Amino acid sequence: LDENSIPYTAAPVDLLELAQNTRIQLENPAAKQQVTLQVEGEPVVIEGVLPVLDEMLFNLCDNAIKYNKPGGHVWVSVKHTPDGPTLTVKDDGIGIPTEDHERVFERFYRVDKSHSKAIGGTGLGLSIVKHSAAYHNARIELESAPGKGTCIRLIFPPGREIHGQEQTD
Ligand code: ATP
Ligand code: MG
Repeated sequence: LDENSIPYTAAPVDLLELAQNTRIQLENPAAKQQVTLQVEGEPVVIEGVLPVLDEMLFNLCDNAIKYNKPGGHVWVSVKHTPDGPTLTVKDDGIGIPTEDHERVFERFYRVDKSHSKAIGGTGLGLSIVKHSAAYHNARIELESAPGKGTCIRLIFPPGREIHGQEQTD
């Protein structure tokens, strides 16, 4: 995935709107798993490629719902921070052991010291997330521990967010 392989051009994207759309897309799978998906924060408009950002956030939320338990929660938050525009997906699901933190972003890697092998998947979601983040020059932070849940933060380059009247309706 590099600049030349994407037939889309960058345009202003509101990350909060993106998150609200993802919530609607995942409403049914979340309800089936008895997981609550909540979106909070403020409008944050960045220069980005909508379908790439959409697939990235979808994969993060899909994981947060899948690797969870009945009664679990997923919190998506969108905020301006001193580090830059920040998109956070946090869950109180099964978590990822420290020794797997690096490898989960590799293609086809799935954690087997967890219940995740019993849950369907090909192991591609987080590699897509990694490439989508790199495409947008975003940094990824992962905090996770078994039984405690997972928090993944995407921090976009500061100073490139768009303030002002760009948002229409
Ligand atoms: P796919 O996304 O292709 O359907 P997948 O979900 O297995 O398959 P990834 O999204 O790349 O693949 O995730 C890799 C592995 O990391 C998962 O198999 C799971 O073991 C672990 N993982 C990812 N997200 C979470 C999470 N939020 N909580 C716990 N484990 C996770
Ligand atoms: Mg996945």
